[in-house]
Order: sequence, then structure tokens, then C-alpha cells
Amino acid sequence: MIKPILLSTPHMGDRELEFVKEAFETNWIAPVGPHIDAFEHEFCQATGARHAAAVSSGTAALHLALRLVGVERGDEVFCSTLTFIATANPITYLGAKPVFIDSDLMTWNMNPDLLWESLERRSRRGKLPKAVILVHLYGQSADIDPILEICSHYEIPLIEDAAESLGATYKGRATGTFGRIGIYSFNGNKIITTSGGGMLVSDDEKLIAKARFLATQARDLAPHYQHSEIGYNYRLSNILAGIGRGQLRVLNDRIAARRRNYEIYAAALENLPGIEFMPEADFGRATRWLTCLTIDPEAFGADREQVRLALAKQQIETRPVWKPLHLQPVFAKSKCIDGVIAEYLFTRGLCLPSGSNLTIEDLERVISAIESVHNCQSRVSRSHAEPGNEVGYLKSTLSFPGSIWKCSRAGSAERVG
Ligand SMILES: *Cc1c(COP(=O)(O)O)cnc(C)c1O
Repeated sequence: MIKPILLSTPHMGDRELEFVKEAFETNWIAPVGPHIDAFEHEFCQATGARHAAAVSSGTAALHLALRLVGVERGDEVFCSTLTFIATANPITYLGAKPVFIDSDLMTWNMNPDLLWESLERRSRRGKLPKAVILVHLYGQSADIDPILEICSHYEIPLIEDAAESLGATYKGRATGTFGRIGIYSFNGNKIITTSGGGMLVSDDEKLIAKARFLATQARDLAPHYQHSEIGYNYRLSNILAGIGRGQLRVLNDRIAARRRNYEIYAAALENLPGIEFMPEADFGRATRWLTCLTIDPEAFGADREQVRLALAKQQIETRPVWKPLHLQPVFAKSKCIDGVIAEYLFTRGLCLPSGSNLTIEDLERVISAIESVHNCQSRVSRSHAEPGNEVGYLKSTLSFPGSIWKCSRAGSAERVG
């Protein structure tokens, strides 16, 4: 049995269990407690955020954020289209409607010019959106300044979805700390995890106090249970906050490990024809939460799906880049401003195994699997083989010089010597 190599798995440090034990020993097994306060405080120190509220998920944080900026039934919210559906689901929880915005090729994130033009058009028609949700995808910041400028010009609150970009910076400052509200996720596949959890940050202390209020069933100040608003049960558990405190202490190591993954992949693969890695914009520092690349099928000799399936056969998990939200059946009726760049990135884009706990041997297995798809495919296309036929043996790859590979028509390869 070969060991499966997964996309992104939890990676505990050596303090998490200690904090969890402390929660048990003091019997703070509840959605209140000292770890929650400390986690919020330490999270602010790590990101430079002023105020923070720990919640049960990134999705919950987004839901609260939209409530806090006053999004209501029938409102429109502008939102990046190239993202995970959790970014947009809370818009619909509130009965509001998403309007999606395309990416640019430089950052894979929201194109500021498109946002600019569409807000100008909307302003002339007197139909501005109630909020803008800006995603920082795969550990890389969007170009925040022009987006912030146009949003402040029209007085539209900016919500940053930094679920995938904890630790990334824009002009030296942490993503998630620029907008009216920023949100983060500690789901199991993120750069640090509490198994599940999220954080909401803002410069506005009152807003964060209101977030805590809404997250605990909106209970009025009264000795009895009294409620004047509808709230949610969205607070993080004190046990999980303990895990978060341990994880925060290793955040910088996790970023370094994920950047190292990218560097090893890029050094080995970036000169293969048709392969391009997600660029790192010079205005910031990405975490490379996931290492992503695009594959030009003509130049490479195989398309994204062929590569993904060939790797899956070798127990290597990869994923297509997010399917843009404007292509999702559930948002078939939603508007999208442009969308061709996100569609292009989805058709060609692949996320490679990127966990901070991958070994050099794991990375080499991924690299040689990709090389062999390329080598086999270029050989297959030269040999006019019949479908299903094996087309012989191929000597040597970059990572295993001198090794012998058996190639199949489908493009997978097996090392046989
Ligand atoms: C993971 C993720 C979320 C949601 O976070 P959860 O904690 O899983 O609810 C939101 N937006 C993006 C871009 C994400 O990747």
C-alpha cells in the first residue's frame, strides 16, 4: 500500500494538548472561558487587528459580518466569483442577492478595475450594493488599496474574507485588517486549525461587542432571559480556543513550510511546457496556503483533469481550482460582472498537496508523477498508440534520473525500475 498524499491536513504543534488539558482541569468546557479571551487577544497581536471575536466557523463570522453592516432581504452584495461557496452562502441566509465580480490574472483575486467600473455604473443608476466581500484566495492578498478607495468613495462597507490567507500581508500589513470587518477560518484544511472555528475582526470595538451579542442569542442585559433581536449560537468553544492558542504559536513555521512546498514544486516544474504557477504579486507576501498552477493542455500534453486523475491513481490528492460561483447551479440566476478569467483559471487550474507536514519525499512523489504525465503524454502523442494500449517504457525523469517508467495511453505512469 502506498501512503496517500492529501491536499492539506491538520498539523498540530506541541502546546495544543496542554491548553486543552487546562480547559478540562478548570472545567471550562463551554462556549465561554479564559482560552477564548486569550485566543482573541493573541490573534490581535499576531495580525495587528484591534478587536476580535472568536466564533464557531468562518461561515458564521461572515454571516455576522453581513448582519453587522446592515445587509437585509432584497439587498445586493458584490462578491468575488472565484472562491469557495462559503463566501456567498451567508448573503443568501439574509435573503440578499450576490453579484459576482471576476478575478484578475495577477492575483487570481477580485479585479479592482471591474469593481470600479461597475460601482460607477451602479451609482449613476442609484443602485449601489449594500456591501462588498473581497476574498484573498489561496493565501494571497487581493490588490486592496484601489478596492478600499472605491468602497470608501461610495461609503460601501468592505468585508474581507481572509479564511484562506491568515498570515499573508499586503504592503506589510495582515490581510483581513483593512476593511470594516475581516473574517478568518480555522477549519481542518486551513493553515492553522481548531478542527472548526472562525474569527471576526474590526477596528470598531462596538461592532465586535455587537458581534459577540448576536453570537450568543442576542440576550439583553437583564437578570431573566430577554431578547429584542434575533441572534445565533455562534460562539467558539473554550476547548477549541485552546487548540487555537497552540496553533497560533506555530503559525510562522506553518507559513514557512507552505512557502517551502511552493519553492520546491516551482523549482522542479516551472520549466515544464504549459505549466504556470499562481503568481505572487509584489505588493505583498503570500503564504502559499495551497500551491496552485495552471496547465495549458496543448503545450503540456495533458489537461488538468488528466493530470488530476493520473495523480489520484498514485494516491495523490489534488483539486481543481474553485469552480466560480457564477457557474454554480445554485447561483444560475445571479449576475456576474465579466467572469472569463475565473472560468479560465477553473478550467486549467490545479491545487497540489500543500500541507505543512509534507516531507521532501512526498513532494518528490508529486513532482515525478506530474513529470511522468507530461513525458508519457508527449510520447503517446508521438506514437499513435491505440486507446488502451501501453506504449512502452520511458527512461528517466528529473527527480529519478535513470529510472524506468511504464506509460499507459491514459497518461498514467508507473515506475518499474
Ligand atoms: C474555508 C473558507 C470559508 C469558510 O470557513 P469555515 O470555517 O469552513 O466555515 C470561507 N471562505 C473561504 C474563501 C474559505 O476557504
